[in-house]
Amino acid sequence: MEFDTLCIHGNDTRYDSTGAISVPIFQSATFAHPGVGLSTGYDYSRLQNPTREHLEKTIAKLENGIDAMAFSTGMAAIAVLMELFCPGSHIIASDDLYGGSHRLFSHISAKNGLSFDFVDTSDISKTAELIKPETKAIFVETPTNPMMQVTDLAAVSELCKQHGLLLIVDNTFLTPYFQKPLNFGADIVVHSGTKYLGGHNDTLAGFLVVSDEALSEKLRFIYKTTGACLSPFDSWLMIRGIKTLAVRMERQQENAVKIAQWLRTQKKIRSVHYVGLPAHPHYEVSMKQTTGFGAMISFETDSERTALDILEHVKVIQYAESLGGVESLITYPMLQTHADIPKQEREAKGINERLLRLSVGLEAASDLIADLEQALEAGRT
Ligand SMILES: *Cc1c(COP(=O)(O)O)cnc(C)c1O
Repeated sequence: MEFDTLCIHGNDTRYDSTGAISVPIFQSATFAHPGVGLSTGYDYSRLQNPTREHLEKTIAKLENGIDAMAFSTGMAAIAVLMELFCPGSHIIASDDLYGGSHRLFSHISAKNGLSFDFVDTSDISKTAELIKPETKAIFVETPTNPMMQVTDLAAVSELCKQHGLLLIVDNTFLTPYFQKPLNFGADIVVHSGTKYLGGHNDTLAGFLVVSDEALSEKLRFIYKTTGACLSPFDSWLMIRGIKTLAVRMERQQENAVKIAQWLRTQKKIRSVHYVGLPAHPHYEVSMKQTTGFGAMISFETDSERTALDILEHVKVIQYAESLGGVESLITYPMLQTHADIPKQEREAKGINERLLRLSVGLEAASDLIADLEQALEAGRT
C-alpha cells in the first residue's frame, strides 16, 4: 500500500460492529474479563486501549516498524527510552538537539548515571572518536533543530553496527512521509507527535517505533510500568491528524521552498538555513535518504533589532513555540527552545540573538510572504 493510503487505512482492524468509519474513542480505563483467566485482549488502558492501538499500528506501518508506542508527549517517549540504559552507560547525541532532549539528558538522565557527549553527528569521524567501551547508543536528530544539519543515516548506522550500538533517530521534523530511519538501519525512531503527525497545534503526543521484537518487548515493559500513555481522546485526534499527513507535508514544503527563496533575496536577512536549497551544505546527503526537505526554516537577520521587529510585527504568522501544524509559527530559539543550553555552546552553533525559526504552515505562501514583508517594513518606521 502507498503511504497516502496507509495514513488513512494503515490499521484495518475493526473495533466494533456498527460499521463506523471513524475509529471509536474507547473512553474506558478498564475492560471486563469474559471469564476467569480470559481476556478480550484489553485489560487496562495503561497497557492497551483499542483507540490507542489503532494509532500505534498506523504509526508502526508508516515508519516501516513492527511496533509503535504512543505517549502523552514527545518528552515522555524520550524519558522512557532512557530507561533502557543502565547507570554507567554512555550515549553520543547530536549537539544541535531539541532543547528539551538536551535538558532531559543533562539534568535527569545524567543524575541517573548516564553520561553524554554532544557532537555534530553530521561529521561521522568526529562522532566515531567519541565511542568508548561504555557507549551504548547514538541519538541523532536529522535535520537538527534549529540549524538544519543533516546526518548521513546509512553511515552512522554502519558505525553503530560496527560497535554494537543502538541507533536512535528523532524523526519529528521530516516524519515518515519524507524520511524512514528504520530503512537506513536505525533501531528506534522517536517522534514528538505534537508536531507534524498531529499537525493542528491542538494535541500533545509522542512515539517510539522499533523494528525488532526484543526491543519492542523491553520498551513495552517500561511503557506499561511507567504509564505515560496517550489518552483515548488524544489518540483519536492523532489518528484524525495523520489522515491528512501526506497532503499537509507536500503543501507545507511547497510553501517553505517559496519562503526560503524569498528570504534569500531580502537585504535584512543574512543567511537562510533550509535543507531544500541546493546551496545548503547537506543538500546532497539529504537527497540520498529523504524524499523531501520538510517545512522548517531558520534564518539569521542583520541585527537583534530586525529579529525583534519581525517577532513583534508578524500578524498571520504567530510568535509561539512548537512547529509542524497548519498554523505558521515563528520562534526565537535563543529565548525559547534553547534557553537552557549554555550560552557559549549555543552561540558556537549559531543560535544567537539574530536567529529566528519559522515553521511554515498551510496558509497561502503569498500571505505568509506579505506578512514577513510588512513585519520587516514596520521595523523601519
Ligand atoms: C517538540 C519536540 C520534542 C518534544 O516533544 P513534546 O511533544 O513537546 O514533548 C522532541 N524532539 C523534537 C525534535 C521536537 O521538536
